[in-house]
Amino acid sequence: MESVLKEIIDTIQDGKTELDDAWLSRLLRRHNRKRPAGEPQLAKRHLRPFYLKLKAEKPEMLATWGVDEICERNLLRLLQIKPRRTASGLATVTLVTKPHPCSSNCLYCPSDLRMPKSYLPNEPACRRAEQNFFDPYLQTYSRLRALEAMGHITDKVELIILGGSWNDYPLDYQLWFVTEVFRALNEFGHEDGHGLGREFGHGHGREHGRELSQPTNDSVNERRKAYEDAGLTSDAKQAAEQCRPLQIRVNEGELNYNNALALLQAQASHEHLSLVQRASREELADQQRRNEHAACRSVGLCIETRPDLITSESARMMRELGCTKIQMGIQSLDQRVLDCNKRQVSVEQIAESFAVLRRYGFKIMVHMMLNLLGSTLELDRTGYRTLVSDPRFCPDEVKLYPCVLVESSQLMREFERGTWQPYTEPDLVCLLADCVNMTPAYTRISRMIRDIASTDIVAGNKKPNLRQTVESARKTEPNERQEIRQREIATDDIGLDELHVEIVEYTTSISNEKFCQWVNTEGKIAGFLRLSLPFEGSTAMIRELHVYGRVAGLDGSELGGTQHLGLGRSLIELACEHAQAAGFTSLRVISAVGTREYYRELGFCDEELYQVRRLT
Ligand code: SF4
Repeated sequence: MESVLKEIIDTIQDGKTELDDAWLSRLLRRHNRKRPAGEPQLAKRHLRPFYLKLKAEKPEMLATWGVDEICERNLLRLLQIKPRRTASGLATVTLVTKPHPCSSNCLYCPSDLRMPKSYLPNEPACRRAEQNFFDPYLQTYSRLRALEAMGHITDKVELIILGGSWNDYPLDYQLWFVTEVFRALNEFGHEDGHGLGREFGHGHGREHGRELSQPTNDSVNERRKAYEDAGLTSDAKQAAEQCRPLQIRVNEGELNYNNALALLQAQASHEHLSLVQRASREELADQQRRNEHAACRSVGLCIETRPDLITSESARMMRELGCTKIQMGIQSLDQRVLDCNKRQVSVEQIAESFAVLRRYGFKIMVHMMLNLLGSTLELDRTGYRTLVSDPRFCPDEVKLYPCVLVESSQLMREFERGTWQPYTEPDLVCLLADCVNMTPAYTRISRMIRDIASTDIVAGNKKPNLRQTVESARKTEPNERQEIRQREIATDDIGLDELHVEIVEYTTSISNEKFCQWVNTEGKIAGFLRLSLPFEGSTAMIRELHVYGRVAGLDGSELGGTQHLGLGRSLIELACEHAQAAGFTSLRVISAVGTREYYRELGFCDEELYQVRRLT
């Protein structure tokens, strides 16, 4: 391993060779061929930990190799695993809430008792959640550690909380969950986590007054032990075993998810959990304040819920939690299809939820499901066109995917009766390609499949690379009018002199919207800002500011990306100019907890739920 590392370092210092993944693979293959039979093969993932170990234990050796700051930065960048994970500019940490009843019972929705409604244990985030007792602190901690081990910078973290319908969980649980996530961010890389085992997170490491490098494994183990003592398991096989008898009854249509879960959770340990999984608003606010200056800051928090659960009151509460984006299932805009799938929501309620969320400044991400029971290719096409063009809707992000059949859903009965069939692949690809073509420049299609393992799919698309098939069917080059994801600069570097600002304007039921984007001549996008100019009131709103490029540390420590080049700041000044020209006297921003300091530096003052800059 040492000789491989030395060769990489020498090549970096030499500066004559283009170093990328392909070069590294060739080098590893060459070295592996020379290894004696029976010795384990070297892989990229071994190199970074080995380098860090060497740095800690034999710094003098690295000094004799001449490793300086620039050389190390290039080395770590080369050794980074899965660079796309942070290519959107952020390290994403996805968390899953515990199994809990959902107030709807949609026909196509998986009902796996080990998971919150609509999720399956084989999905990566769900697997991690189960391994961590669905504890928010443990999930956050282990994900951050995994990302760091892969060489990613974790200063700026986008949090995504998944699991059924967030607003169906008791408020106490909501407050606790988010407080614990912030606690984990605050303590990761900063504080001693001793005391974390105390009743699932009440009390924190600060009480011990020491500033150590990370919560120790001991303290995490303590917390895990508290769950084990309460009779819970983090073992997938054991969990499956515990659920099996009730799961069979659910799969056979004899019990629904909520009833079966009630039977499963009718144990003292679950009652105990609901008593200790609670936090006060003050505890939350305290953790949020600490996060403003923490090493791992929340730069976005997304929560998943249903349109009919969105009210002014719930929107306000989600904002209080530090939420910046709401993800909600729309699935269809055809009332007959919604009813047929037992969605218990009306198109009017969906439209109203958009208006409320936009008024509160949230980024709006929706799920749209094709091929639902009772739908057709044409209804799906029309429904999607309505979604992206009707002023009552116009989401910022869409997860657009076909319905797939899983064993635990009620759709099984329809499939067996022959009343539901998946579309053929050519029909599906053609439909998705049409949908992509209809999508405006200010909308991002984040996904085209649900993250369900093919082994769990009874019928429907099993291709994980469906998106690539759709893109090849479209055969178009990026341009500034296309949906966002196709145009993101991802891991590429881009010259500032290649960029110019373009503004796409559109109208919604409550506002004029300006999507201001930095693009190059091919339409590749380096950053954007969403400015909302409401028809009522004198305050405009920045709903989103995003600059792409390899994630930059808060101290600007990663070079090569577009962050920290002033693209964001110039978009904010542009937003101020446009808002003022339109007659607004102030500009609010729906800042994430960890970006408050950034906006203060740009002249924004703290308000109760937002930050605001006067424009006069
Ligand atoms: S609302 Fe969502 S989680 Fe609840 S049953 Fe419907 S799809 Fe499943």
